[in-house]
Amino acid sequence: MSARPEPIGLYLHIPFCEAKCTYCNFAIDPRRPDEGRQERYLRALLAEMAGRARAGAAAADTLYFGGGTPSLLAAARLARLVEAARSLFCLAADAEITLEANPRDLDEEGYRALVEMGVNRLSLGVQSFADPVLREMGRFHTGDDAKAALTAARRAGIENVSVDLSLGWPGETRERWRSNLEGLAALEPDHVSVYLLEVEGRTLLSHRARQGALALPTDDLVADLYDETVDALAARGMERYEISNFAGRGRESRHNRKYWEDAPFLGFGMAAHSYEDGRRTWNQETYGGYCRAMEAGGAAVAGRPWMGGCASRSGECSSPTRSSAPSSDAPFRRADEG
Ligand code: SF4
Repeated sequence: MSARPEPIGLYLHIPFCEAKCTYCNFAIDPRRPDEGRQERYLRALLAEMAGRARAGAAAADTLYFGGGTPSLLAAARLARLVEAARSLFCLAADAEITLEANPRDLDEEGYRALVEMGVNRLSLGVQSFADPVLREMGRFHTGDDAKAALTAARRAGIENVSVDLSLGWPGETRERWRSNLEGLAALEPDHVSVYLLEVEGRTLLSHRARQGALALPTDDLVADLYDETVDALAARGMERYEISNFAGRGRESRHNRKYWEDAPFLGFGMAAHSYEDGRRTWNQETYGGYCRAMEAGGAAVAGRPWMGGCASRSGECSSPTRSSAPSSDAPFRRADEG
């Protein structure tokens, strides 16, 4: 008797954002996500999901809405995507369904709509509790917005909440970072992701760095603050289980673990990566390119890889040894977000 195939993870990339953050090097659609743009993208996503389900896929046990800012997609459209995942990929009844959100996008009613469609895990892109830093980052929310968002999400019934923080912003000091850790402790999240700032790509931040206008903290200071963070979170019962990720007991992200454990996952949407049978593929990297490919009735795959497992590409993903040292995050995008 053949063994049942391993359950897969599903990743849906929602590329819309209110504006581009100054450090952002992610795959996003820089245009306003008006109704027409949302609907066109939704149709492309549904077509891609249907096509890949027809080609044969194992049942899924995780669904992850990443971005971009998935909380900008209208609830009715998110619900259609969850339904498609259930019907096309036999999404397990107890599946982990995560949605990344910006703290200011949703109120309690919005979070309740997420619960009703089955979202049971929220990843809040808090990044900092210092409002001047948030402004420099180009984000529209404040530290207080993050607190209000977490309270509203809990009231709406989302029990599993993760918070993202960014360590190493220009001008980082021990005092400022410690106040971030205090803000975090007050929120009592179930899971924390701490991402080390990377100044990269064609971002406003890297432009300023080239002009010599950034006072970046030293590597030694960042390493000290990272170690301090590991200790502070451990003291609150949150153990590090991957380089950037900390969780209370049983709150590790089932979806993210698939990336580090060479488990199969399918990614849908522009720039999304998939990993199946030891091979990685990735989709068209622009909104227009992705939508046109799907509208032409084809597939959106833009690239196929190198040999074997994905760890062969500059070690950027899925090696269990990644769990032991600071590095960048997910295989296809640094997993801020929302
Ligand atoms: S950092 Fe996140 S919220 Fe900001 S522009 Fe990039 S994807 Fe959007």
